[in-house]
Amino acid sequence: MTEKVCIFGSTGSIGCNSLEVIDNLNNNGLDFSVSYLTTNTSIDLLAEQIKKYSPKGIAITDELSCDQFVSRYKFNDLEIFKGRKGILELSKRDDFSLLISSLVGIAGLEPTVNAIKKDRRIALANKETLVVAGELVNDLVKKNSSTLIPIDSEHSAIFQCLTGEKMSNVSGIILTASGGPFLNKSLDELNYVTVNDALAHPNWSMGKKITIDSATMMNKGLEIIEAKWLFNLAPSQISVVIHKQSIIHSMVEFIDGSVIAQLGIPDMKLPIQYALTYPHRVINDFPKMNFNSPLTLTFEPPDYEKFKCLKLAIDALNSGGIYPTVLNAANEIAVELFLNEAISFNEIPEILELTLNNFNDDQELSLDNIMNTDKSVRRKLKENQKFYSK
Ligand code: MN
Repeated sequence: MTEKVCIFGSTGSIGCNSLEVIDNLNNNGLDFSVSYLTTNTSIDLLAEQIKKYSPKGIAITDELSCDQFVSRYKFNDLEIFKGRKGILELSKRDDFSLLISSLVGIAGLEPTVNAIKKDRRIALANKETLVVAGELVNDLVKKNSSTLIPIDSEHSAIFQCLTGEKMSNVSGIILTASGGPFLNKSLDELNYVTVNDALAHPNWSMGKKITIDSATMMNKGLEIIEAKWLFNLAPSQISVVIHKQSIIHSMVEFIDGSVIAQLGIPDMKLPIQYALTYPHRVINDFPKMNFNSPLTLTFEPPDYEKFKCLKLAIDALNSGGIYPTVLNAANEIAVELFLNEAISFNEIPEILELTLNNFNDDQELSLDNIMNTDKSVRRKLKENQKFYSK
């Protein structure tokens, strides 16, 4: 297997894990070269990655950080793409074959779409691409000779469980959720949790945005919407179960009642490697399951009152159209406000609910409408920030 890889967000958690996976693949006789790397602001880590992987080019989306990089580092023959414009230009390049799409938030949509239009193989970690534009993206993948393989551990699990199966034999999928750090807190106690409490995820080490989304369970809500488009399911075919141990990464139920699950220790390197090598499997020395010591797996239904974000995401999926975009934009702003300690934890779902309730969908879905709606929801919420500050 030979691939020329471009990683959007190479200094993030998925990006760093992807580079480790690539090391392993190359150690096992495969030929994965790194063509392009990108960061938002982590220029020192990016410089280390450049030294090790010698990419043709890089993009730094934060313009100030890009200027700092240029004055701090000198690499011969390194092409530098600056700012948002830069990463969009890079996404249209012809000289990479595989894109690892791991930008945070809706910022990942346009560059991923550009790469799909260029027939690239896409290893997708950016949920928002499918959350806000699933139908449009599916059409584009079909129209071009692009392939979309999920990196998200739940979707990778389902993808693996479905291998060799007919979709008409699937009765539903069950997404597992760890429940995050607040599984055992009461709704009232959630009023008083701090940013640090929310950032302490019990099983997964991830970036800040997704860690807060895991604490509110919005992450699982976004994953439901992502799964709907990835596997072409009706919303009623997707359910969520709390599985604290994060060992079963998700399950598929078939019409005969058989349930197939995928297990593994919580480590993103496994689903990343599968996305990079699919349909092949490659040996590695990543941590493995150990059934020689006692292991208890538990399952319980989620509490939709306490984790209102999960309920709101299901509602947005059922409303369809532009509503997932509205939900996602409001959530990105609410998480930012919470991280800046401008609002309390329970105000996150309040902001989402208010925003969704005050929104009238009267537009046809297009990429332009999605981007415009995203901007207008953000603008309105930012204008009202005083209202939300403590
Ligand atoms: Mn996930």
